[in-house]
Amino acid sequence: MTSEKSIFTRIIEGEIPCFKVFENDYVYSFLDINPVSHGHVLVIPKEPAQFLHELSPESSSELGKALSIISKSITEVTGATSYNIIQNNGSQAGQTVFHVHFHIIPKYPESTHSFPWKTMEIDKKEASELAQKISHNME
Ligand code: 5GP
Repeated sequence: MTSEKSIFTRIIEGEIPCFKVFENDYVYSFLDINPVSHGHVLVIPKEPAQFLHELSPESSSELGKALSIISKSITEVTGATSYNIIQNNGSQAGQTVFHVHFHIIPKYPESTHSFPWKTMEIDKKEASELAQKISHNME
């Protein structure tokens, strides 16, 4: 994270206008300026971190709560019964604004957007070791 303010911090501080949908002490939420679908909303922490894993427990927890509340409101207002939540970390993963953000993207019967990815077969021996390593690393 550079010391320069991200565009999202400037939105939180009111320097750049946005269509706000939610705010509390930890979280800010507004419409995406280039929506993938009607009702595409961004949910961001006020804490200025680039990566999800850099956030404080308080911000993480408040984001989780806000995502659920805001998703419910979007489905009720737009009528969408399906939606995707996308969260990109790092430029190789498609992150273009280096301030943590979640996309809530409603999907309608007529929507044509998709988020394709290629899958591969799991190697069970390697998977067992990997799962243990990740698990032990958190102890
Ligand atoms: P990313 O590709 O980093 O996951 O997504 C960044 C998102 O931020 C994009 O969907 C883009 O449209 C949105 N965005 C970038 N700048 C602005 C802005 O100034 N205002 C709003 N509302 N959204 C923005």
